[in-house]
Amino acid sequence: MDRKYNSMREPAPSEHIPEHGIPAETAYQIVKDETFPQTQPRLNLATFVTTYMDDYGTRIMNEAVNINYIDETEYPRVAVMCGRCINMVANMWNTPEKGEWKTGAVGIGSSEACMLGGVAAWLRWRARRQAQGKPYDKPNLVMSTAYQVVWEKFCQLWQIEMRTVPVTREHPTLDVDSAIRMCDENTICIVPVAGVTWTGMNDDVQGLNDALEKYNAETGYDIPIHVDAASGGFILPFLDPDKKWDFRLKWVLSISTSGHKYGLVYPGLGWVVWRDKSCLPDEMSFSVNYLGANITQVGLNFSRPAAQILAQYYNFLHLGMEGYKEVHSNSMAVARYCHEAIGKMSCFENYSKKLDNPLFIWTLKPEYAEKTNWTLYDLQDKLMQSGWMVPAYTMPKDMEDMVVMRVVVRQGMSRDMADMLIGDIRNAVAELEKLEYPTPSCVASGRNGKIKGKVYTH
Ligand SMILES: *Cc1c(COP(=O)(O)O)cnc(C)c1O
Repeated sequence: MDRKYNSMREPAPSEHIPEHGIPAETAYQIVKDETFPQTQPRLNLATFVTTYMDDYGTRIMNEAVNINYIDETEYPRVAVMCGRCINMVANMWNTPEKGEWKTGAVGIGSSEACMLGGVAAWLRWRARRQAQGKPYDKPNLVMSTAYQVVWEKFCQLWQIEMRTVPVTREHPTLDVDSAIRMCDENTICIVPVAGVTWTGMNDDVQGLNDALEKYNAETGYDIPIHVDAASGGFILPFLDPDKKWDFRLKWVLSISTSGHKYGLVYPGLGWVVWRDKSCLPDEMSFSVNYLGANITQVGLNFSRPAAQILAQYYNFLHLGMEGYKEVHSNSMAVARYCHEAIGKMSCFENYSKKLDNPLFIWTLKPEYAEKTNWTLYDLQDKLMQSGWMVPAYTMPKDMEDMVVMRVVVRQGMSRDMADMLIGDIRNAVAELEKLEYPTPSCVASGRNGKIKGKVYTH
C-alpha cells in the first residue's frame, strides 16, 4: 500500500530518519497529536515564562521566524533594536553609564545572561589577582542555597567553588551576615536574587551592598554583586521603583533578567547589563569578519532567533512604563487573591505573609499533615486532572523535609481563572480528605497516615 495511506498505522520513528517521507499533512498531524494531551500552557502555573502575548506581539514574532539575529550585516536594524532594548533595560535599572550604547548583551534566557555576568566577575577578579602577583586558581562565589540551577552549572562548568548560605525558616532569604562571613580574597562575587525561584521572595540587595561597603573597606577587597533578577528585574522597576536594588547601589556591577519572564516575551530571551564598559572584560568580546563586516559580539551562542528581540522592543513601545505597571499590578492583585484564599483554607499555611513578586508557596500545616492520608504531591496529581500544573517540591538543602506547592501568576491569568483554580483546589482537597488509606506518597513521606482515626502501620 502507498505510504500515503498506511503511515498513520505505523509506529512513529524514534531511532532512524525514515527512508521515505510521508505527506506533509500526515506528518503535521502526527506531530500535533503527539503534543495534544500536554498541559495547556496557560494552565501551567509552574512556569515563570510567558504563555500569553497579544495578537500583534505574536504576529511580530511569527513574521520574524526566519531571521537569525547574528546576521547583523544583513539585518542591521535588528542589531540596532537590540542595542535600544539594552539601553532601555539599563536605564530601567538606573545605570550610571552615559554613552549612546549602554554595556550589555542579549541571551537565550537568564541562564546565558547569568553565565555572562558570572564569567565577567571571574575574569575581573583574575585580572586583579594577576596584577597583584597573587594566585588565581581558587575562585569562589557566594549565594543562598535557594539558587537557581544555572548557578550550579556556572560553578561546575567554570570550576568555581560555590559557597552557599542556608535559607531557613529564620532566614527565608539570603542572610547577609553569613554571606559576608563566607567571603575571602578569592570571592569573585556575591549573587543575591530578586524573585527567588523557590519562594518568590527578594534577597536584600541594599543590606548586602551596605555590608560589602564596610567589609571591602576593612579588607581592601573589591567583592562585587551580580543581581540575578530573572523575575524581579521586570517587576521591581514598575511595582517598587523607590526600592534600591540595582545600579543605584555602588557594588552592583551587573544584573541579569529573563525577557521571557516578566519582560512578557515568548521563550528565548534574556538580558545582562554591566554598570559600565570597565566591568566587561575585553576577552569576552569576539569579532567575526565573515558576515560582510566586522561584528563584535558578547555571548555564549552564535546563531539565535531575532524574533524575541523584536517582540521585546514591540512590548516596550506598546506598553510603555505605564502598561508594564498595569500588567504586573494585575498579576500581583490576582496572586494576592490566591494567596489569601489559600491561606484561609484550614489545611494550608502560606510560607510568607507578604508577596514580593506575583508568586508564592505554601505548605500543609504541620499539625494537619500529621493526621492526614495525603500529601501535596497527591494534590498536584489531582489538579492535573482538571488541567492545572501546580508543582509540589521539596525546599533546598537544610530545609529539604519541607514540601511546598507554588503558583506563579503571569499576564493572562484572570481573576476568573483564579476562582476556577481555587474552586478546583477546594474540590481536590475535599476528595483527598475522603481517603480511607494513606496514598503511596504519604507512606513514602514517612508519615503513617490514618485509617478512620486509627494510626496506620505497615
Ligand atoms: C528562571 C530563572 C533563571 C533561569 O532563567 P532562564 O531564563 O530560564 O534561563 C535563573 N535564575 C532565576 C532566579 C530564575 O528564576
